Amino acid sequence: MLDQHSLLKDLPAVDRLMREAVLDELQQRLPRQIVLQAVQQTIAAYRSKIIESANSGKDTEKIDLSPSRLALEAAALAEQNSAMSLQSVINATGVIIHTNLGRVPLSSSAVDAIKAVAEGYSNLEMTLATGERGSRQEHLESLLVELSGAEAAVVVNNNAAAVFLVLNTFASGREVIVSRGQLVEIGGSFRIPEIITAGGAQLIEVGTTNKTYRKDYEAAINEHTAVILKVHTSNYHLVGFTAAVKTAELTTLAHENDLLLVEDLGSGVFIDLEKYSLPPEPRVQDSIAAGADLVTFSGDKMLGGPQAGIIVGRRELVSAIRKNQLARVLRVDKFTVAALEATLHYYRDEEAAINELPVWKMLTVSRSTLLHRAQRLAERFSVIFGKESVQVIEGISRVGGGALPEAELPTYLAAVTPREEKLSTAKLVELLRMGSPPVILRLQHDSLLFDPRTIIPEQEEKLFDAVNTACIKWKN
Ligand SMILES: *Cc1c(COP(=O)(O)O)cnc(C)c1O
Repeated sequence: MLDQHSLLKDLPAVDRLMREAVLDELQQRLPRQIVLQAVQQTIAAYRSKIIESANSGKDTEKIDLSPSRLALEAAALAEQNSAMSLQSVINATGVIIHTNLGRVPLSSSAVDAIKAVAEGYSNLEMTLATGERGSRQEHLESLLVELSGAEAAVVVNNNAAAVFLVLNTFASGREVIVSRGQLVEIGGSFRIPEIITAGGAQLIEVGTTNKTYRKDYEAAINEHTAVILKVHTSNYHLVGFTAAVKTAELTTLAHENDLLLVEDLGSGVFIDLEKYSLPPEPRVQDSIAAGADLVTFSGDKMLGGPQAGIIVGRRELVSAIRKNQLARVLRVDKFTVAALEATLHYYRDEEAAINELPVWKMLTVSRSTLLHRAQRLAERFSVIFGKESVQVIEGISRVGGGALPEAELPTYLAAVTPREEKLSTAKLVELLRMGSPPVILRLQHDSLLFDPRTIIPEQEEKLFDAVNTACIKWKN
């Protein structure tokens, strides 16, 4: 057995490794400093390994210290250290609005709009007709007014910011009445009670979890009340013995008492979902028509646009919101304005919205198309895993992201059930997740499930490459 000291002496020096062909080539692409760092890290890791092995009496002879071996590891490390942290991934989960995966893909015209304003200057805050200073909100307001039927609109960073800003402007130091059935939590970080407190207002809960009546709201109104807040229960449904008060009736009650009726719709849609055999979701224009003073909703849920919080409603209220200093703190950047304007344009023609916005394409794709695409995936996976390991099965896709919680969208899945019984399928899932590009999917029992609904067709070739690479790594 070799002793620790002679082994440590055998460790190649930094200069020696830097001259290895792989690392020499790598320096054409990556900064020398990054490569050097990776070499130093690799040598240090081997030094610890030798000492640890010797101390625990393990066979140190097994450690390969050849320069070519260490250079390969250093090269991989350098690549890893210089890779972008935020990267494009393939969503094979079938969850359409996937918050952890950036919610929804944008339409190509939204992407083009972002690119156009990113590459040069834009009239973000200049009225071209006069050459005078304009507002970034002008690019969005007339479209939002047209689509919602409201008098005015203002857009901020996200819907949480929109709710916060509305309450801070109109209910700071005063009371906000909310039904106990609507104290929603979204994704752990947005909770209606906390956002009301953060906005400087006091929450007054009324009714019970399952039933709230007009008389419950009425009894809670006093001289401190500022707002009645209606919240769409976007990620759960109350079923069974329930009662809630409709927007129109709450509006009447609010106005009789000189209060504002604010409705947080969460997702917010302009399209009647029942026309497409989907469960109903409240439409923005219906809330405005029912008399709501202000309505808030997200840009990147079912709307299919960039992250944004949209506030529509009465003109003098929107003006007051814009004058709040916090509106400046929460304002959107030019990329959001560009992508949202392009997205909203589609809704002027419902057919265009359904056919062009990725979120609607995924929601309304036909079963025969899904079957066809699942078969195509299965065929290619058969080449990688063997025919007997792959099949097409029926399954369920989800809308996700706090919209249509009970909607089960029937789909077809390509299911891969590897026969390598000694190898862990969880490990294969991990290799796919760590791959390039990363592939995110569901593992059910011992089957990997690929839902074609959320796999963008243009990504399919990359998907096959990534699955093939992960499979080779897994078997070795
Ligand atoms: C999603 C949601 C929010 C938060 O919206 P973000 O755009 O994620 O900030 C607020 N309220 C409701 C009811 C929601 O569904």
